[in-house]
Amino acid sequence: MAEGKTALFVGGGIAGLFGALMLSERDSRTRIVLVERESEVGGLLRAFDYGEHGRFDYGMHNVYDTGLTGLDERIAGLLPDAEWQISKGNARDVAGIFFRGRLQTNSPYIDLRTLPATLRQECVTGFLDAASNLAPEPAVATSAADVARAKYGAAIAENLIRPVLQKLYRRDPEDLDPLALRLTALGRVVMFSEPLTLELMRSAYLRGRVAYPEQRRLPAEFVPSLRTYYPKNYGIHHVIDALKARLARRNVAIMTGAQVVTIDRDDRRVTGATIERKGERTILEGITDLYWSAGPQFLAPLVAGKLPPVTFERGARTVVVNMLLDRQPAMDGLYYFYCYEPGFDTFRLTNFTAYCDGAPRNGLFPVSLEFLTYEQKDRPALEAQARSEAERFGILSRGATIKFCRAETLASGFPLPSVTNMKSLSALRQVIEDCDIENLHLLGILAEPGLFFQGDVLKHVYRTFERTA
Ligand SMILES: Cc1cc2nc3c(=O)[nH]c(=O)nc-3n(C[C@H](O)[C@H](O)[C@H](O)COP(=O)(O)OP(=O)(O)OC[C@H]3O[C@@H](n4cnc5c(N)ncnc54)[C@H](O)[C@@H]3O)c2cc1C
Repeated sequence: MAEGKTALFVGGGIAGLFGALMLSERDSRTRIVLVERESEVGGLLRAFDYGEHGRFDYGMHNVYDTGLTGLDERIAGLLPDAEWQISKGNARDVAGIFFRGRLQTNSPYIDLRTLPATLRQECVTGFLDAASNLAPEPAVATSAADVARAKYGAAIAENLIRPVLQKLYRRDPEDLDPLALRLTALGRVVMFSEPLTLELMRSAYLRGRVAYPEQRRLPAEFVPSLRTYYPKNYGIHHVIDALKARLARRNVAIMTGAQVVTIDRDDRRVTGATIERKGERTILEGITDLYWSAGPQFLAPLVAGKLPPVTFERGARTVVVNMLLDRQPAMDGLYYFYCYEPGFDTFRLTNFTAYCDGAPRNGLFPVSLEFLTYEQKDRPALEAQARSEAERFGILSRGATIKFCRAETLASGFPLPSVTNMKSLSALRQVIEDCDIENLHLLGILAEPGLFFQGDVLKHVYRTFERTA
């Protein structure tokens, strides 16, 4: 490849693409190369294209304001204002759960008021006991079990949180990292009426534990001013297309179907890399910086001589089942709900039409079921299961029928947030850090402990470039 200074990005998800854009805006002289393993960039923000049945996102993905003005303006600026559908106030994110056999639509947090009286009483008493000494969440929590017990008391932790985590991850809370409580809405519980909750929410301590029971009536003083964006013309891939167009205008070279197989360094600096694509190798020299958003586990063997003994436990396969219904699903306006019910593979069901007016096509309404699947099942079995689960959720009321159904297994999906996996990732990040390479930057999902949500990933990218500006 031609001589000269090159910044290399590895991983073409939103983290790598946005990082490459930020660098290209700041430094027009350095050549930028982005390497992506798959045949297309976009990572989790790509689309399935079914021709006449239209496109589907890889499950639920939209864009949330982060509160960092410079970042939010850049992301919102990717599409013209008129092309965004903006949800704000109490409509910013309307979610529910399928829990104990019913669809709960007032809040995405478990509502204790729906429990049998004795269990509810036990949970409330346990909560008040735990809260009475204002104990903070453990500073160094070893597991989701520790955090759940400290936050809510033993009764809620054992009777509610434990079975939900077991359903989702097939692991006990003792074996799960505290991150597991954040991946779905387990960070609070609904317990009391609106007036009492409002009183309690004046305390920051209780506000971090007790959720307002009616998400659509949350008083203005507690509603974040942050907004949610989704393209009016259905498809989160429009954000990726906009990023790609900008990168093309800035002459950023994107190599798809490619991987970095060796990294050369000179003491404390990466100097070069070998990229393999379709059996052919390309050597890149004169690397100024390496930005890695393809997971620390793939980077560590390339930079560290000796790796610590780490193990990674296998989680579920993530399967996205895309459906078209001939009527709006009966979900009371929810954008999505999490499923906490044993006996279902669905962990989230999304009704795209609820937050994107452009989602319906040919008079049909797109819905997606994201599965965490632990057994080997072929496509027809997954599709039959999705049809059955949609029916059991009760979203097909008023005689709605499923006109199209297609299951897709993701190459890399939901991470298993087990203590073992998070410890292994930390050990590998440490090995990378110990190499003390000054021009190597980790970006993207799990580049830091607990870094998972898109807004946090983008903030981390943004700050990386602000810091190195
Ligand atoms: C199933 C699921 C649901 C989610 N739901 C939400 C949600 O509701 N809200 C939210 O805020 N966040 C959600 N997230 C997290 C969000 O998707 C991520 O924060 C965001 O997509 C991270 O972007 P990324 O670029 O780091 O990773 P990715 O989008 O995963 O991109 C990484 C890219 O690197 C490529 N790659 C991997 N290995 C290599 C290699 N060796 N060489 C070259 N390229 C490689 C991959 O092909 C991919 O294109 C979800 C994540 C998952 C998995």
